[in-house]
Amino acid sequence: ILESTSAGDAGKVVFSFEFFPPKTEEGVENLFERMERMVAHNPTFCDITWGAGGSTAELTLEIARRMQNLVCVETMMHLTCTNMPVEKIDHALETIKKDGIQNVLALRGDPPRGQDKFVQIQGGFACALDLVEHIRRSYGDYFGIAVAGYPEAHPEVIESNGLATPEAYAKDLAYLKRKVDAGADVIVTQLFYDVDNFLKFVNDCRQIGIACPIVPGIMPINNYNGFIRMTGFCKTKIPSEITAALEPIKDNEEAVRAYGVHLGTEMCKKIMASGIKTLHLYTLNMEKSALAILTNLGLIEESKVSRPLPWKKPTNLFRL
Ligand code: FAD
Repeated sequence: ILESTSAGDAGKVVFSFEFFPPKTEEGVENLFERMERMVAHNPTFCDITWGAGGSTAELTLEIARRMQNLVCVETMMHLTCTNMPVEKIDHALETIKKDGIQNVLALRGDPPRGQDKFVQIQGGFACALDLVEHIRRSYGDYFGIAVAGYPEAHPEVIESNGLATPEAYAKDLAYLKRKVDAGADVIVTQLFYDVDNFLKFVNDCRQIGIACPIVPGIMPINNYNGFIRMTGFCKTKIPSEITAALEPIKDNEEAVRAYGVHLGTEMCKKIMASGIKTLHLYTLNMEKSALAILTNLGLIEESKVSRPLPWKKPTNLFRL
C-alpha cells in the first residue's frame, strides 16, 4: 500500500474500494460478484468495515479472508475497539494473520447503540492510539496500519454551528499525529464534500509534521436520503452549491446518481490537481457510481463499465 500511495510514485494515480458486510447470505454472494468485477479494474487494495460495536466481527473476518485469498485483492480489514477486550482484538489479528492479510485500519469505533459516549471496556482499549500501539508492540512490522483522519475534526468535537473550535481542531490534529508517531503508515479520511477544506487539512497535517500519505475518502452520492443520513451522522459540511443542485432533483434517483458521479469526478479532479495521487472510494457496496467516476478521470477503461447518464448542470437556456 505504502509504495503505491506515496506522493513520489511517478505520477500514477491509484485508487481503492471500501465495502461493508451485507446483512444476508445472498447479499454477501452479490457483493462478491460485484467485487470481482470491480477488482478487474486493479484497485491498489479493497477494505472491509468492522460493523458498529463489533456486530459483524465473524462475518468481516470471513469476508476479509475471501477477499484476500479468493478474489485475490490486497485486503485491509477495519478493526475497532468497541466491546473488544484485548483477547478478542488478538483473535481478530491472529485470524487475519493466519489468512495472510497484512493491512488493518485501526479504529476506536463509535459508542455502542444507546450510549452517546465511548466508554473503554474492562480489558479493552480507550482509543485508536492504544490499538495502533498494541498492534506494533505485538506484531512488529507484520501489519500495515491505517488510521482515520477527520478533515473537519471528529464529529464529537463539532459544535451545533457545524464547526469545531480552532482549539478542538488543533487537538484533533495533534492526536492524529500521535497515532502516526505510534506506527500508523497511512491516514484514510472521513468522507467530505468541501475539497478546499480537505486540502487545508492536508496542509495543516504537514505543518505539524505528519508526513505519511493522506488518502481522501470519497463517497459518491447514490441516493438523496442516504446522503442526508450519512452526512448528518458524520456532521459533514455540505457546500451550498451541492444543496442547490440536489434539492430540485432529490426525488429522481437516476438524476441524483448522475449528479453524484459528476460531483465525485470534479472533487477527484481537484484533489488530483493538488498533487495527491490516491483516491479511496466509499462504494457502499455499489459499483456503478464509483466506476463511472474512475472512468471519467481516465483511470479505468470505459468499455468495462455500465454507467448512469452524465449529469447536466441546470442552465438558463437564454442567458448563457
Ligand atoms: P480515535 O482516533 O481514537 O479518536 C476519536 C476522537 O477522540 C477524536 O476526536 C480524537 O481526537 C479524540 N481522542 C481520542 N483519544 C484521545 C487522546 N488520548 N487525546 C486527545 N484526543 C483523543 N466505525 C466502525 O464501527 N467500523 C468501521 O469499520 C469504521 N471505519 C471507518 C473508516 C474511516 C476511514 C473513518 C474515518 C471512520 C470509520 N469508522 C468506523 C468510524 C469511527 O469508528 C468513528 O469515527 C469513531 O468515533 C472514532 O474512531 P477513531 O479511530 O477515529 O478514534
